[in-house]
Amino acid sequence: MERTLAIIKPDGVRKQLIGAIIDKIERAGFKVVALKLTRLTKATAGEFYAVHKERGFYGELVEFMSSGACVPMILEKDNAVADFRTLIGATDPAKAADGTIRKLYASSVGENVIHGSDSIENAKLEGAFFFSTQDVVAMHA
Ligand code: UDP
Ligand code: MG
Repeated sequence: MERTLAIIKPDGVRKQLIGAIIDKIERAGFKVVALKLTRLTKATAGEFYAVHKERGFYGELVEFMSSGACVPMILEKDNAVADFRTLIGATDPAKAADGTIRKLYASSVGENVIHGSDSIENAKLEGAFFFSTQDVVAMHA
């Protein structure tokens, strides 16, 4: 069973969308196997998004991701990484497909309510960024 790392970003938490977003995720067949409410410091947000360090939006992204609480989760499903990217939609909510989480709830390309890993390898690294192995519950369907 494949896993991916999702984060309900600070805008999603501020808009009180934790329940609505998790409802969409569970209805799409993903099992939540690890979850917490946490707040990133600028340092940890910067480390999580280090791959974007040279991009113009990096400073703003780090500010935003450390601006309030967020909800990282490890999700389990067949083809979890690709299917979750489909469920969340394009980075820019204006370009996201109808019914996707970003189309439904996001307000801008920066504040786009949800993160999803972009590869199986990154899903493992990002999962380990937030959770230890003992935080991850083995789920049996
Ligand atoms: N982002 C932004 N401006 C951009 C592109 C990205 O503020 O022009 C932010 C946005 O929050 C996005 C995150 O940086 O989700 C990571 O960008 P990436 O290209 O990896 O998009 P994602 O994988 O989240 O769809
Ligand atoms: Mg990305």
